[in-house]
Amino acid sequence: MTGPRSVLVVGASLAGLSAVRALREEGHEGAITVVGEERHLPYDRPPLSKQFLTGGLDAEALALGDAEEYQDLGADWLLGVRATRLDPAARTVALSDGRELRADAIVIATGATARTLPGAQGLAGVHTLRTLDDAEALRAELTTGRPAVAVVGAGFVGAEVASSARAMGLDVTVIEAAETPLERALGREMGLVCASLHADHGVRLLCGVGVAALEGTGRVTGVRLADGRLVPADVVVVGVGARPATDWLDGSGLRIDDGVVCDAGCATDVPAVVAVGDVASCLDLFTGGHARVEHWTSATEQPRTAARTLLTGVSAPPPAAAPYFWSDQYRSRIQFAGHVRPGDVPQVEEGELDSRRFTAVYRREGRPVAVLAVDQARVFARLRRTLTPAVVALPRPA
Ligand SMILES: Cc1cc2nc3c(=O)[nH]c(=O)nc-3n(C[C@H](O)[C@H](O)[C@H](O)COP(=O)(O)OP(=O)(O)OC[C@H]3O[C@@H](n4cnc5c(N)ncnc54)[C@H](O)[C@@H]3O)c2cc1C
Repeated sequence: MTGPRSVLVVGASLAGLSAVRALREEGHEGAITVVGEERHLPYDRPPLSKQFLTGGLDAEALALGDAEEYQDLGADWLLGVRATRLDPAARTVALSDGRELRADAIVIATGATARTLPGAQGLAGVHTLRTLDDAEALRAELTTGRPAVAVVGAGFVGAEVASSARAMGLDVTVIEAAETPLERALGREMGLVCASLHADHGVRLLCGVGVAALEGTGRVTGVRLADGRLVPADVVVVGVGARPATDWLDGSGLRIDDGVVCDAGCATDVPAVVAVGDVASCLDLFTGGHARVEHWTSATEQPRTAARTLLTGVSAPPPAAAPYFWSDQYRSRIQFAGHVRPGDVPQVEEGELDSRRFTAVYRREGRPVAVLAVDQARVFARLRRTLTPAVVALPRPA
């Protein structure tokens, strides 16, 4: 095999670590260097909005990998330093400390950063939640006194924060600009069903209203809504999504379109440069389109594909598989696989919506394209296997 001798991984989180693991498993024996902006070794983000926030887990329990594994992987970890520029032709990466690194191949795994709201900067009590440092700061505020909490955005992270804050006995209001929460991810009907978990647990959900301003001088006191209402709050969590961390790729010539555009094998337009995880907008053989998939499972699976692509020099797409994520809210486990488009029709196959324990399959022209389950893991696993992809195989090059 004539693979690269050295690989540089930019981004030291789930996808970056998964890339190092996959490169070694696929037989790469050469040097691997990992550059990470955070000062921490890779840790798991899903608990940040769940057990870590409520105090059920501490920071050590979030670690991905232990000292023995790091020793075996034999990579160099440069932490607390940012990549600032990529020259894909020379395969060099400039770092924020003035150094420049060169490698035969580059893995882009810089993930995403939390979006925020205008006026949030410099206002104490306003938080986003993406990193361990964010979660520590938020947890400190949620456990001081009994703050009233406003969560802006009823997406999965916002909903989980609301659920955790409620489990801590706090007064919580969720503000959502869309008429139906989670509509893009789950469709209208199931979005409403999942959002009803908030009301079931005593959390106020205000939908169809935007935020006009964050109120307060020095420290936030509330959220002014676009219709004039005021939601008083001591702590505001802004959960309005994340944007791909591609700023450092400006001027690199790589194709960026809501993420680094890749083929189904995680290959970019530039040879020996691949992208994985939340930053990558790969061709998804299940949906037949390009998409950035901000799911834990994708950040662990794409790196295996990317490693094969790098080590063989040929883009190596895996068989089409439905994207999968889970979300834990109010002691319920939501699981979803597939992809929903407007017009797809969900049908409950087992359980009942009212009991909040059910499995629904979405169909498009009779074809099962997605499955959603709340607290029905076994049924979910069975029905997930019945989903059919949009694209079964790539055309072979002539
Ligand atoms: C609070 C929270 C809860 C979640 N819960 C779930 C869940 O329940 N289920 C689920 O499926 N998914 C969940 N996710 C999503 C999942 O955690 C992500 O899909 C996964 O972390 C993506 O991994 P990644 O390595 O691609 O990106 P990230 O985890 O974002 O890591 C990217 C890393 O790159 C670093 N970086 C960025 N720019 C640079 C640069 N220029 N130079 C060097 N380093 C850089 C960043 O600092 C970061 O450490 C959750 C995410 C969050 C934030």
